[in-house]
Amino acid sequence: MSKQLIVTGGGAAGFFCAINAARLNPLLKVTLVEKTGKLLSKVKVSGGGRCNVTHACFDIVEMSKKYPRGGNFVKKTFHQFFTTDTIEWFRERNVSLKEEKDGRMFPVTDSSQTIVDCLLKEANKYGVEIVMNAEVKTILAKEEKFEIQLSDSRLLTTDYLCIASGGYPKSSMFDWLKELGHSIEEPVPSLFTFNMPGHPIRELMGVSVENARVKIVGSKLEQEGPLLITHWGLSGPAVLKLSAWGARELAGSNWHFAIIVNWLHDFNEQQLRDRFQTLRFEIAAQKVANKNPFGLPNRLWEFLLTYSEVNAERRWTDLPAKEANRLIKNLCSCEFDVKGKTTFKEEFVTAGGIKLSEIDHHSMMSKKVPNLFFAGEVMDVDGVTGGFNFQHAWTSSFIAAKSIAALSV
Ligand SMILES: Cc1cc2nc3c(=O)[nH]c(=O)nc-3n(C[C@H](O)[C@H](O)[C@H](O)COP(=O)(O)OP(=O)(O)OC[C@H]3O[C@@H](n4cnc5c(N)ncnc54)[C@H](O)[C@@H]3O)c2cc1C
Repeated sequence: MSKQLIVTGGGAAGFFCAINAARLNPLLKVTLVEKTGKLLSKVKVSGGGRCNVTHACFDIVEMSKKYPRGGNFVKKTFHQFFTTDTIEWFRERNVSLKEEKDGRMFPVTDSSQTIVDCLLKEANKYGVEIVMNAEVKTILAKEEKFEIQLSDSRLLTTDYLCIASGGYPKSSMFDWLKELGHSIEEPVPSLFTFNMPGHPIRELMGVSVENARVKIVGSKLEQEGPLLITHWGLSGPAVLKLSAWGARELAGSNWHFAIIVNWLHDFNEQQLRDRFQTLRFEIAAQKVANKNPFGLPNRLWEFLLTYSEVNAERRWTDLPAKEANRLIKNLCSCEFDVKGKTTFKEEFVTAGGIKLSEIDHHSMMSKKVPNLFFAGEVMDVDGVTGGFNFQHAWTSSFIAAKSIAALSV
């Protein structure tokens, strides 16, 4: 009698597992069970509707550094299915990916629908049965089989089970998985922007700096990159990366903390002091307001002069030491209080999930329950923005599929 696999969750990881398991073992009967009435909904909205499928990074060690949680785990899994395999997998199905300047990879059509269509077509091709509006409520491991109860009381049985149910914002939402004997790393949000309610800098919304450095006061957390001023506070890659690396620590502070911004990434305080000394000669007769010697956006330069109480009408040569000191400080270590967070274009991921120590990285099989597998964001793995979260979804689900296909022949 042919064996059966049930995959829980109709997202990127669930589809990739179902398709590849059915493809690698044509005798396996594969059913995908999705809670909602929609399939691949995150893939559809991902990457601003373009789907950032993976990242053009072809070095496993470098790639694994992009995961604030689970870096060591993914490093081991990438040996089995890496970015190159993702590109090739889609290329073999007539979906070419292109690389953007910052390394993000999108379908050449610039439409996430291309990825959705490809996955739906493959699922159909390999006879994956899809059951929608079916939420898995409880799972019972019984005599080498799983008994799965759906929210509408339907009962399903299967030999192999892959959980690809994505991240949940609350620990209690993992209860049905805890009942199987698994433990959970407490979920906290990752990839958010910083709110600075009432701060006057928000009037510069839309202004950005190409390469700034942002540090969290009282911690070692620091990131660099483009920084964007928004209506709420600060955003941009530097802030998003910081929110990911600091996800747990910042949740612990209830998202109230102080940051220090160096608007001039390349200068430390002493270098800036030296530069000010030379500027006093080089552009001595020019007014401070008119001459912005660091290439900062003019609106930001004007703001920093006012914020530092510098008389903008002064000439560089006449700038008093007190005013220069305040300006130097605000240029390279401008302190802000952050109070709260905003979700970045809803492109958040959840840090936390099934503890990685309970999953075998060779097979994605549970170390607690035989023939139970995990894939995607339900695991305690999350990456920064740039295609890293999908790559983990493709890698983990491919490995699970391969293991199940091999076990079930
Ligand atoms: C707006 C947005 C944009 C993003 N853009 C990108 C991007 O461009 N690149 C990138 O790498 N990452 C991106 N991400 C992150 C990425 O989408 C996720 O990491 C990825 O989708 C995780 O895939 P998954 O299959 O593990 O989970 P999901 O996509 O969340 O799928 C899980 C599925 O399981 C279902 N489910 C849950 N519980 C049950 C249950 N009990 N029974 C049955 N079904 C259940 C859910 O309804 C859902 O359909 C984005 C995220 C968001 C929110």
